[in-house]
Amino acid sequence: MENYHADSDGFYGEFGGAFIPEMLYPNVDELKSRYVEIMESPEFQKEFHQLLREYVGRPTPLYFARRLSEKYGARIYLKREDLCHTGAHKVNNTIGQILMARKLGKKRIIAETGAGQHGVATATVCALMGLPCIVYMGEVDIARQAPNVARMKLLGAEVRPARSGSRTLKDATNEAIRDWINNPEDTHYIIGSVVGPHPYPDMVARFQAVISEEIQKQLLEKEGRDAPDYVIACVGGGSNAAGAYYHYLDRPEVGIIAVEAAGKGISTGESAATSALGTVGIIHGSKTLLMQTTDGQITEPYSISAGLDYPGIGPMHAHLFTSGRGEFHSVTDQQAMEAGKELAALEGIIPAIETAHAFAVLKQRTFNPEDILVFNLSGRGDKDLQTYIEHFNL
Ligand SMILES: *Cc1c(COP(=O)(O)O)cnc(C)c1O
Repeated sequence: MENYHADSDGFYGEFGGAFIPEMLYPNVDELKSRYVEIMESPEFQKEFHQLLREYVGRPTPLYFARRLSEKYGARIYLKREDLCHTGAHKVNNTIGQILMARKLGKKRIIAETGAGQHGVATATVCALMGLPCIVYMGEVDIARQAPNVARMKLLGAEVRPARSGSRTLKDATNEAIRDWINNPEDTHYIIGSVVGPHPYPDMVARFQAVISEEIQKQLLEKEGRDAPDYVIACVGGGSNAAGAYYHYLDRPEVGIIAVEAAGKGISTGESAATSALGTVGIIHGSKTLLMQTTDGQITEPYSISAGLDYPGIGPMHAHLFTSGRGEFHSVTDQQAMEAGKELAALEGIIPAIETAHAFAVLKQRTFNPEDILVFNLSGRGDKDLQTYIEHFNL
């Protein structure tokens, strides 16, 4: 049977690995040689789960969406990651990584951020642990994501502008990597999705796997079986999806559905639909699918949702796509906005626009009435209110 988890070198099929400059070897090797042992220790597990329970507010509910189910003729459940502290799943990973940093004896935290969501989740856990936090962010993103910049500052983080290139996420990532190379002894780099060199994709997936671990228990209570027919999530880098799929990857009876951002349309040149448009290459130290020109320049992605606006996908997802294990859809800005509005009106839940993409799949394919669907409701829509206002003239 095909293996959908990372092998010992961090490969998912042909994707993954660690393609990094030699100067990063010591940092990455230290993490690689210790992460599994640390994560699996009873002491780490106890601290991690205690914080998830008491600080993040886990377990998040698995909610049966009655009206949505009636409308689409299937049994639809929502995994409520929007109810996590800070409003999305990202904090599951940053809690795990800050504990990891402490076990490795690191005294200083760096991160990169695009829209600022991961920066906020990182600044939050640094405040919690009293560790200094430096967040690299493109100058353009700093200007367009002012509320998240303010949040990070309130939380005590320093936001350092990346002024090179297009002054967006990939430039912030380069700055963060440069910082890490220069501070190998005392610094941990918290990456925000299942991307980057091995062991990050596997480590982040394991932290987010708390999502599917809870789904199994909760579904067993509600439906008498621990697995749905389909688990559905939006994919930017792929961390909320990886967490929702994790315990179902090797169970072929569970359909895996991934939804990417088509932006203004796959063929418009303004999209972030990596599975549809990507080719094999190396981004952020990992071999995966990414959007690039024929001479290997990374294409600037576009999506109405900042969290899906990423030119690659994590190697797990590249493998799920090419192996056929996962069913991939792409959804335009317009379709996502309509789906978000519909969820708000039918269930009283305003989703993040990232999350809204996942729900648009209900209009793209049909399900059987007895099918059990679990949607990973990755985040809440408060941060996106201005976008909803402008889009619908509210
Ligand atoms: C960041 C974000 C995403 C996209 O990131 P993944 O790593 O693909 O999960 C999705 N939903 C929300 C609410 C986010 O904040």
